[in-house]
Amino acid sequence: MTNLDILQTVNTPSYVIDERKLRENLEVLKMVQDETGCHILLAQKAFSMFYFYPMIGKYLSGATASGLFEAKLAHEFMPGKENHVFSPAYKEQDFAELVQICDHIIFNSFAQWKKYKDIALKAGVECGIRVNPECSTQEGHAIYDPCAPGSRLGVTLDNFKPDKSEGLAGLHFHTLCEQNSDDLKTTLQAIEDKFGKYLTDLKWLNFGGGHHITREDYDINLLIDCINHMKDKYDLEIYLEPGEAVALNAGWLVSEVLEIIDNNIQIAILDTSAACHMPDVLEMPYRPNVIGAGEPNEKPFTYRFGGPTCLAGDIIGDYSFDKPLKVGDKVIFCDMAIYSMVKNNTFNGMPLPDIAVLHEDNTVEIIKSFGYEDFKMRLS
Ligand SMILES: *Cc1c(COP(=O)(O)O)cnc(C)c1O
Repeated sequence: MTNLDILQTVNTPSYVIDERKLRENLEVLKMVQDETGCHILLAQKAFSMFYFYPMIGKYLSGATASGLFEAKLAHEFMPGKENHVFSPAYKEQDFAELVQICDHIIFNSFAQWKKYKDIALKAGVECGIRVNPECSTQEGHAIYDPCAPGSRLGVTLDNFKPDKSEGLAGLHFHTLCEQNSDDLKTTLQAIEDKFGKYLTDLKWLNFGGGHHITREDYDINLLIDCINHMKDKYDLEIYLEPGEAVALNAGWLVSEVLEIIDNNIQIAILDTSAACHMPDVLEMPYRPNVIGAGEPNEKPFTYRFGGPTCLAGDIIGDYSFDKPLKVGDKVIFCDMAIYSMVKNNTFNGMPLPDIAVLHEDNTVEIIKSFGYEDFKMRLS
């Protein structure tokens, strides 16, 4: 059986994670670590399928979290690996727990650093400040640009307080999103221009995420040059914390056609929803690839895919096929491991898709399925 045949056999909707592709991505990331001595961490906010944390921990240095719950997940399922956290602001009760389980804690302001410095240093945690180099390298996606005017993410040079940085071990920046290493190089130039004079006293620099390292056209050699340059010039340890790159193209969302409606265009209603199961399709926005489908009107039969919710805009995109679709046909969306499961919701009482793995021996295993109780228990 081919992958396609196997994917046709799962219950719908299901996320099916491609173990082989995940491992290939991890091998690429490990190669970057081995070549440079940098530390690469999984940014859990993109992919928190902890079933795979033991495997991820074999390749990467650890994980990073956006808050207490993700930090606890990494602590539980990647024991012994590095555990980092960044949040724009910490709650006191969370912080007491974070210092027990995290190696690195990144602060978003000098006020937060001052508030928590003593407890963090006493617990032996290495602390850093997130800086904003005010160097936008992305166009079009303002909500993904931490360097956009008025950003709340990162300390600008104007707000940087060198006299208050005693005790800090490193700096952190995160300004990229699905970008190549040329934009990293541009960003590092801004970091050096603005914060270079502070780097020599520090132990590490964290390059954040948004590095699309496992994408085919990514320039890994330039990434390696960038890492080595910062490492050698300032005598720093370098951290990277990609989310997307870890599980890029490593999963599908398999769905089924429930109904076909004609309203000047052909509309196929699926048992999966953009709003509930692939919200980045609406937020980013983008059009996910579908196996066997072309651009609208490229092939003879074009359909608009919509979810079964009441939201008029619950539209996934327009796709064309060689043959007409019929009720019961499977529709398989690509690159659905990242920013999918982690963003699921049950709006309209939509069921959560199963989570399955396509193993390297081409067998499928259902890791988790959800039902009515999972909907109900969050609502009172
Ligand atoms: C989102 C985020 C990441 C991961 O970003 P990707 O685009 O998924 O690589 C890493 N670090 C921080 C601070 C983030 O906010």
